Amino acid sequence: MRCSASLVALSLAVCLSPFALTQDTQSGSDGTPDATVVLLRELSNAPGPPGAEEPVRAIMAPMMKSASDEVRYDGLGSVIARQGESGPRIMVDAHMDELGGMVRRITPNGLLTMQMLGGWLDQALVDQRWTILGAKGPVRGVTGIRDIHVVPAEERGRVYPRNMLSIDIGAMTAEQAAQMGIEPGDPVVPDSPFEVLNGSENYLGKAWDDRVGCAVLIEAMRRTAKSAHPNRLFYVATTQEEIGLRGAHTAADVVKPDLGIAIEGGITGDVYAGHPEETQEKLGAGPGLFLYDSSTLPNRKLVAFVKKTAADNRIPLQFDLVQGYGDDSAAIQASNGGTPTINLVVPVRYTHAHNGIMNRGDFDRMVDLVVEMLNHLDQKQVDAIRNFAPQTTTQP
Ligand SMILES: [Zn+2]
Repeated sequence: MRCSASLVALSLAVCLSPFALTQDTQSGSDGTPDATVVLLRELSNAPGPPGAEEPVRAIMAPMMKSASDEVRYDGLGSVIARQGESGPRIMVDAHMDELGGMVRRITPNGLLTMQMLGGWLDQALVDQRWTILGAKGPVRGVTGIRDIHVVPAEERGRVYPRNMLSIDIGAMTAEQAAQMGIEPGDPVVPDSPFEVLNGSENYLGKAWDDRVGCAVLIEAMRRTAKSAHPNRLFYVATTQEEIGLRGAHTAADVVKPDLGIAIEGGITGDVYAGHPEETQEKLGAGPGLFLYDSSTLPNRKLVAFVKKTAADNRIPLQFDLVQGYGDDSAAIQASNGGTPTINLVVPVRYTHAHNGIMNRGDFDRMVDLVVEMLNHLDQKQVDAIRNFAPQTTTQP
């Protein structure tokens, strides 16, 4: 690349500005790169809409293999890693897929229409950059917005519905789009690179739902690989959660769990205040425990176990009840004749969108909580959680 004088001036200005302190890798006190930031950045940046999780699987599978006794796959591409030979079968789940779409049609003038995958608001789709995973590699594009100079005054506050939108990839004809390697069915994801937000403990990026859970899985399994837990732990990175918990269904068929723990991104209510009944979590206030969502109810004894584990280890715990929310624990719960489950969440601001924010302290405390739970579960504890026989009281 030619280095022009204006580019040199610009880079100098950036280097001298206080914002130059912002880096996308934080360092430890000895100057070594923070491995957790590296892991979160890699997972957030990886493109993997439902059914096209290959890039995420390519990151997860080798790391899961190196920390487990055995790795296998279900028929939908979920990665199942086992630790331990005996004891209750405990499934720890996070999903690899993210909100995205697929190319539906290439128009004669080279634009792409999109089939959305997962729960998008229409207002989140316009004027955004996207990556299309074409046959010749990633293709960049933008959902163009109508120009205000031609939009009538009465339409300026209106949300444009998704069926009006198209992705502009710079092709002027259908043939040019095809030459770029694009065809119907190609996966589409947001183009939103990870960054540490202005040197803070908050990380900006796409797909925290549920790459933050994937990262919890990796860090927890590295720790339990070294502990003497009396369980068979099945760490499972599932597929196609965003379109109906499909990978969790098939993975649970394989695992046949006695108990299930889903790790997810939680919904914060600390920005758009004034709706306290919608959600209760705050960013930076610790891991969250779902007491209710529209897909599942947690096992009450397991809720008590999580609360006790958090209290014993001085881990702050938030509670949440969200109406319009579903998660893999619902599929696990309905497997193997009924399985006690819980959904634990790392709070995330702006989950189903191009840009979300997670907090590092919340993440670290979640890893601690999951590891403490797994180290304190055993056959007796799992049997007690699974026991629904009425307690007999001794008559005086
Ligand atoms: Zn999710």
